[in-house]
Amino acid sequence: MKKILYGILLLNFAYACAPKTGDNLSNTEPSATEKPISSSLDLTNVNNDRIWVEIDPGSFSQDTVIFRLPRVVQGTYDVSDFGSFVDDFVAYDYSGAPIAYKKIDTNSWAIPNARQFDKLGYYVNDTFDIENTDAETPFSPSGTNIDSTNYVLNLHGFIGYFDGMYESDYSIDITAPADFKKSSALSLIGTTTSEDGSSVTDTYYADRYFEVTDNPMMYGNLEIVEFPVGDINIVLSMYSPTGAHTAEQQKETLETMMDAQKRYLGDLNSTPRYDVFLYLATRGENEPTGMGALEHHRSTVVVLPEFYPEEALDEVMTDVVSHEFFHIVTPLSVHSEDVHYFDYDQPTFSKHLWMYEGVTEYFASHFQVYEGIQSRQDFYDKIMEKIQTSLTLDDEMSFTEMSENILEEPYASNYYNVYQKGALIGMCIDILMREESGGERSMLSLMKELSAKYGMDKPFVDNDIIEEITEMTYPSVGEFLQTHVVGNTPINYEDFLVKVGLEFGERMGESTFFHSGQAFYVASTQDGNIYFRDDMDLNTSHIELGIQGGDVIKSINGTDYTIDNINDLIPQTLQWAPEQEIEMVVIRDGEEVEISGVVGTPMVKKPGIVESEDATDAQKQLRDQWLGTN
Ligand SMILES: [Zn+2]
Repeated sequence: MKKILYGILLLNFAYACAPKTGDNLSNTEPSATEKPISSSLDLTNVNNDRIWVEIDPGSFSQDTVIFRLPRVVQGTYDVSDFGSFVDDFVAYDYSGAPIAYKKIDTNSWAIPNARQFDKLGYYVNDTFDIENTDAETPFSPSGTNIDSTNYVLNLHGFIGYFDGMYESDYSIDITAPADFKKSSALSLIGTTTSEDGSSVTDTYYADRYFEVTDNPMMYGNLEIVEFPVGDINIVLSMYSPTGAHTAEQQKETLETMMDAQKRYLGDLNSTPRYDVFLYLATRGENEPTGMGALEHHRSTVVVLPEFYPEEALDEVMTDVVSHEFFHIVTPLSVHSEDVHYFDYDQPTFSKHLWMYEGVTEYFASHFQVYEGIQSRQDFYDKIMEKIQTSLTLDDEMSFTEMSENILEEPYASNYYNVYQKGALIGMCIDILMREESGGERSMLSLMKELSAKYGMDKPFVDNDIIEEITEMTYPSVGEFLQTHVVGNTPINYEDFLVKVGLEFGERMGESTFFHSGQAFYVASTQDGNIYFRDDMDLNTSHIELGIQGGDVIKSINGTDYTIDNINDLIPQTLQWAPEQEIEMVVIRDGEEVEISGVVGTPMVKKPGIVESEDATDAQKQLRDQWLGTN
């Protein structure tokens, strides 16, 4: 589809090239196809929380040009409408006078007198500021921040493209206060300092629009650390508004994780430099609320809550950044034509999110146990959680159908399943591959074969890849894909767990003090009291403290609680450490009972995945091949 569109545009272009008599070609600028598109962002002149952007292409010989900001960016599977953040759009002719333009839709502007058109400019509002409102905003890691101390420059939020000119190269000037720190993986071709020394202009180069969108930057009060992991240079650029976390601490987490990832990936080709841009969000009014990360070929932008305690931040960084780094395999090295010839305005979507997101998420979980940085039981628990979460989504929805129609309902609201059932699909294929090959092949070895066959510059045909995988592997893998990925038959996970000597059972798992899936208490709307439930097992901390089902909470650590203020307490309890002292007064049978002690680590019996006691040696051997012996 993209190819056809491109062909039509070329035809129009050829037609428009025929000179018309009476045309006033009042410029001597090289044509837009010969000159890079010059773009500039000025961070020294922020106007009402907006940045002025200018875009200056070469000259055009057709009647009309269309300029757009992306409606959709790659990797997000959602509509972003970056055009809706643009104000005061103006197009200039070669004499510097404004000329007419027409706004076609949220993201597009048509300039009818293209032969007179020299350049355009506009203000850009940031997306982080309004995430707290009801407005639709792009996912934070693809969004933008304009703040005196920090700029998140996802360039697709600032710089647009002219229709049919995705392949044009760009020069990008960023002017910023001279004392700003900055980080970008894009090649820097020059820096100039203003006469009074107060500002600096960095000039970067991108050889096509994709490069503009694939290379985010950060400017401002950053902490930047660089360190090698094998032959990759990792650059961590981090913004922690209150300084609660440091780049040094995060460096350790990333080193351990990426070192294990490098071992896991083995000889798979990798980039010489990888950038991690980490924005830690406070709970302030103009702060982003969508947490997570977005992958790029040589970097990732990560947005996480700053209030996370160190240990929780380390854990989520490991899960999130390892996922983004594994995207180097897919979709970055293995992808279909829809991804390769991505249309930022009217994209078509590949059928294979099970691979791009699912297999990536599976790798991000599996490498941790395989390389010995996580215990087997923790891995089983994660799989169990993914099974349970996937069952709250539509388990009978064809994954390929969902993928191809991901912007529309009912598919869009099931997108989250790519991280749940998508990862489980990866797990099932991994187990099948290992079983069929006697432990020789795996999900990873299959992805390596596909990456050798295709790679970054050669897309596969979307409709052919399942058949191709079937030919490359085993009939059982083909049947699995047809039945559970193309088809809508739910997966019976037990069938796969049994191959590796695992089964569903019950195990003790951590809960929080007041919740384990459901709350341990009931807030009565009749009398306003908070009761510990007597119709479910309380957790081990409750039992050790001597709390009983039916007890009414009167006070905790000196504060009285009822239905009116119990919600003030719950968030605090999530941060309780095991040694936290607690003094509670409960009412039991009409009498006040004082309870005191430490919170401890609340545990509760949960459904889980456990190792079968009667697993055979063959099952155990396959389990070892699957999970590694590190
Ligand atoms: Zn992803």
